[in-house]
Amino acid sequence: MGSVKEGEVRERLLRPILRELQDGARDRVVVGGLEGLVRNLARPFPKLLDLFQGYGEKDPEARKKVLEEALRILQDGQEKAPPPGPKPRLKPQDPAHLLAPPQSRKKLSELGLHTVRDVLHHYPRRYEDRRALPGVRYLEDGQKATLSVKVLAKELVRTPKKGMQLVQVKAMDAWGWRLALVWFNQPWVLSQIEEGATLIVTGRVQRRNGVQLLVEHFEDEGTESLSTGRIVPIYPAKEGVGQAFLRRTVHRALEMALPLPDPVEPYREGLALMPYSQALRAIHFPEDEEALKKALLRLKFDEYLLLELKALLDAGGVVLGRAFRVEEAWVEAFKKALPFPLTRAQERVMAEIAQDMQSPRQMARLLQGDVGSGKTVVAAFALYLAAMNGAQGALMAPTEILARQHFQNLTRYLFPLGVRVELLLGSTPAREREAILARLRSGEAQVAVGTHALIQEGVEFQDLGLAVVDEEHRFGVLQRRALLKMAKTPPDVLVMSATPIPRSLALTLYGDLEVSVLDEMPPGRTPVKTKVLPHRLRLQAYAFAREEIKKGHQVFVVAPAIEESELDLKAATLLYEELQGLLPEARIALLHGKMPAREKEAVMEAFRQGAYDLLVSTTVIEVGVDIPRATLIIVENAERFGLAQLHQLRGRVGRGGLPGYAIFLAGEASQKTMKRLKVLEASTDGFYIAEMDLKLRGPGELRGTRQSGYPELRLGDLAEDTEVIERARALAKAIVEEDPDLSLPKHQALKEELRAQAERIGFREVI
Ligand code: ADP
Ligand code: MG
Repeated sequence: MGSVKEGEVRERLLRPILRELQDGARDRVVVGGLEGLVRNLARPFPKLLDLFQGYGEKDPEARKKVLEEALRILQDGQEKAPPPGPKPRLKPQDPAHLLAPPQSRKKLSELGLHTVRDVLHHYPRRYEDRRALPGVRYLEDGQKATLSVKVLAKELVRTPKKGMQLVQVKAMDAWGWRLALVWFNQPWVLSQIEEGATLIVTGRVQRRNGVQLLVEHFEDEGTESLSTGRIVPIYPAKEGVGQAFLRRTVHRALEMALPLPDPVEPYREGLALMPYSQALRAIHFPEDEEALKKALLRLKFDEYLLLELKALLDAGGVVLGRAFRVEEAWVEAFKKALPFPLTRAQERVMAEIAQDMQSPRQMARLLQGDVGSGKTVVAAFALYLAAMNGAQGALMAPTEILARQHFQNLTRYLFPLGVRVELLLGSTPAREREAILARLRSGEAQVAVGTHALIQEGVEFQDLGLAVVDEEHRFGVLQRRALLKMAKTPPDVLVMSATPIPRSLALTLYGDLEVSVLDEMPPGRTPVKTKVLPHRLRLQAYAFAREEIKKGHQVFVVAPAIEESELDLKAATLLYEELQGLLPEARIALLHGKMPAREKEAVMEAFRQGAYDLLVSTTVIEVGVDIPRATLIIVENAERFGLAQLHQLRGRVGRGGLPGYAIFLAGEASQKTMKRLKVLEASTDGFYIAEMDLKLRGPGELRGTRQSGYPELRLGDLAEDTEVIERARALAKAIVEEDPDLSLPKHQALKEELRAQAERIGFREVI
């Protein structure tokens, strides 16, 4: 740029001119005379060229005049030079193509980079440390290396024997050591390389006659040093969109759009977070590892904060509900009426719930616990507290079987305490239904257990104070809300889930819910004995099934559901027929994905009542159903399931005091698969297993999360981030509590980010 050149020239002229003045204008400062120097340099200052004409021939007095005039011109020029002030600016919402030459518009939109903000948040996939690239001298034979070299000569060589084409480039490193770069059968490379250019090359080293590098990847360093001498970002890219191009574009975005207002400025110092603009710079072009780490933490925090804020705002923020009374005597009475002492985990979670219910805020709590950890008792406790306050409670389950089971258990716990529980199902006969509805309307019935039937037309509560939803992921948020609408003031909400979701995932999936965990099993339960077998030993599994059936026990056989339901049906039918051949004496039932829900429930119910010995299913059946005589579960192609899911499946057996067994058949017995499945042999802790699953497979694979619109995170890593998420969540809650619609001036930057990133982060519907 002209002004840079001008500044440089001025610097280089000023010093000798000043020295010449001090020296008495004797023209001895510059070898060959000052005029020569000026002629060489002063092109940006044409006046100087005239001025110095014949300088050497002048007398010192005349020379001094020339020198003073020259100083005036140079300094004058300096004053007139444009002030360093405002650089051209772009706003985050400006189109991205303003950052790149017109012909590269398409490249950006192909990567989904439509705005300057998109470019700023197009984070590197990884980094390469090119701060100190090795010299040719130290390369070892066979080593893979990246280095910066200057191109000396290039040629295309045809090998006579194999008809191969080699691009050979003679190059030199910064220390003058030579090497040859070689590309096999990529003749077009030749035209992409220019003599004299500096390349960053990566490849395999060969030390034979001299040093050769078999090039796998190369970049033209170009004029800017974005690709070398630093920690270099490697971006998610596409065919035809080069790294160097992306680096330049991102760099320009940083130059032209920063600084940006920091969305969490009012809270930033308290949270010890790196400033926003600094973090954006550092995530792309980090000075060092430390800066990168801090930038990553900062931007992850933002990602989770926005997620949590979105969840809270969608849920209507922190809602005022009703404050229930909780008396110590009631708690005691409840415990006394139970046939067993509570586990410590149950006690803890019940205290958390009691506290929520006492608070004037609406309770919104997720109760997680493995199958059999005793969630129903906890739900009964909450329903009891509501009843003691004169309010009603509802418990909604995804299937009739589960609703029936809850009804039986709740009646068992609550009837002795004088609480009346009703059961309302789709199949409830009309006359009975009318009677139940009347008792709910009048308030005579305090608790209603049921399926979707609870949220149908005609159901009306006198005063619904507590809504319990079992197996939430089967409903989704819409049904949850429908149930809440049955209440006049916002009721407290307890969501129960047996899916052991790692805490970090629960916090993001259910951003609007507090999480309680029953992490302890009631005593006396023997863990389900688990064995992973390779496919070739599968007949052993069925031999064992025969033994169990002989003892009068029942067996589940599960095969993974296949997407196309035609195939699903075929797989199920084949397995069913095969097992009939293998176990001719057994009574076998079949459950598959194509059956209507009602029919499935009928088969389940018949199995529960002992009409069958073995149930083949290709669909995931209710995890919560108690079938006391079921002692063995065999899972075919277990590798196609998530660990958490397998863990849930084995929770179906050994629930009636009989020892339970699980056999997982690995259809594909690679080391990786076996290692993953063996986690189940080693542990019975559902949360540990879910964490391992998350680490080994990634969150998208966890059951339910894909369908339920798990948000796509750019930087976040749910397997690692529990702590960051908790902090982001705490801040989100504080913000929403203080400023429910983000209208305060200090939250404007945050609101803007939220609006802009809502689509960008890719929120589909969060549960
Ligand atoms: P979940 O709903 O979490 O699967 P349940 O509430 O259905 O578990 O409880 C499973 C079984 O354990 C039930 O038979 C229940 O009576 C029993 N149970 C629950 N809590 C305890 C406890 N603290 N001690 C002994 N048994 C318990
Ligand atoms: Mg249960």
